[in-house]
Amino acid sequence: MDFEVIIAGVGGMGSAAAWQLARRGRRVLGIERFDIPHAMGSSHGVTRIIRLPYYEDPRYVPLLRRAYELWREIEAASGERLLITTGSIDAGAEDGDLFQGALTSAREHRLAHEVLTGAQVNERFPAYQLPPAHRAVYQPDGGFIASERAIVAHVRAAQAAGAEIHARERVLEWRSRGTDGVTVITDKGRYNASRLVLTAGAWMGELAAPLKRIAIPERQVLAWLQPLQPALFGPDRFPVFNLAVDEGRYYGLPVYEVPGFKFGRYHHRGETVASPDDLRREPDAEDERLLREFAERYFPRGCGPTMALRTCMFTNTVDEHFVIDRHPEYPQVILASPCSGHGYKFCSVVGEIIADLAGGGGTRHDIDFLRLARPALEPGAKQ
Ligand SMILES: Cc1cc2nc3c(=O)[nH]c(=O)nc-3n(C[C@H](O)[C@H](O)[C@H](O)COP(=O)(O)OP(=O)(O)OC[C@H]3O[C@@H](n4cnc5c(N)ncnc54)[C@H](O)[C@@H]3O)c2cc1C
Repeated sequence: MDFEVIIAGVGGMGSAAAWQLARRGRRVLGIERFDIPHAMGSSHGVTRIIRLPYYEDPRYVPLLRRAYELWREIEAASGERLLITTGSIDAGAEDGDLFQGALTSAREHRLAHEVLTGAQVNERFPAYQLPPAHRAVYQPDGGFIASERAIVAHVRAAQAAGAEIHARERVLEWRSRGTDGVTVITDKGRYNASRLVLTAGAWMGELAAPLKRIAIPERQVLAWLQPLQPALFGPDRFPVFNLAVDEGRYYGLPVYEVPGFKFGRYHHRGETVASPDDLRREPDAEDERLLREFAERYFPRGCGPTMALRTCMFTNTVDEHFVIDRHPEYPQVILASPCSGHGYKFCSVVGEIIADLAGGGGTRHDIDFLRLARPALEPGAKQ
């Protein structure tokens, strides 16, 4: 056998998996079709939010607690600061899903938090101009991860632990070799391994037939605007946010590396694509207009000239929960497709889960709600 584990896709999840497997002494090959890192997938754009009072579902909170610990471990291993704490704001109408969901998670998991009105948020963090009657959960441990640097840190740590990583090599197909092996065929070679990990992000459907119908790529656009009052938009004064407002659901982060505060709209313009290779990558005037309108209304002190616009991809399931499971037909193949617009913060713990599953047994983490065979993902399931 050439390798014990091959990882197809060395982006956010694949790089973390490479480190977790290599540090357990597994012989690992990671194969990435672009560069390390690159701006063609889902993890670029410098930063990603991490937050604990998870409005999407309280079952993510234990995974998040472990994710925090593992982010600190890769920071220690790499000697780099990768997770920057700013506090987090989850805000919206008092009876809305976002505020109520965040509050449920905070209470159920006894997270340190405060409930603020929109007016109180605006007073404490003057960059914000929320509707005064909105409600917010403020949680002090929220922040962001330097996502592209974290991929590099994971890859370097994996290499230091003995992993082999090939960039600019594309996995074309893989074949099962009985129950205990796979052959992976790329545009540069052919490799055998006992286990295969598929962490191909928006391309999952091309490498894993069961995900073709389930994991749908969608175009997103990120904006960075120069703040008119920069002192209000630094990591020390500006908590990361998720906001549900009349115009939709938005997220944002302080100024960091790019000279602008960063934000985006979930499901931006609803542009799903059949293949990520068909994605319209150049942002246009309508993308910019839509995003600037949001900032003018809710962050007017941040709404200076545009500094950058960048396209990126979500990979959505209908229930917006991840898929982390074994392949239904080939148990030696592990599928990890955690996106739906909120996966990056989990990379560190997903790497650990993948390493557990690749070990042949189970994992101590509760990932039952993320299995592939769940009612919401059945053909014809109600949405
Ligand atoms: C605009 C935007 C904002 C987001 N904001 C947040 C946020 O604030 N917080 C958060 O937690 N999450 C956020 N997300 C979601 C998060 O970024 C994703 O969940 C995460 O990046 C997915 O990581 P991944 O490893 O699955 O994908 P990627 O990092 O894209 O990695 C997949 C890799 O597989 C490679 N690959 C694909 N096919 C092949 C092949 N055939 N051969 C070899 N390699 C292959 C790709 O090139 C790629 O490098 C956001 C996403 C977007 C797009």
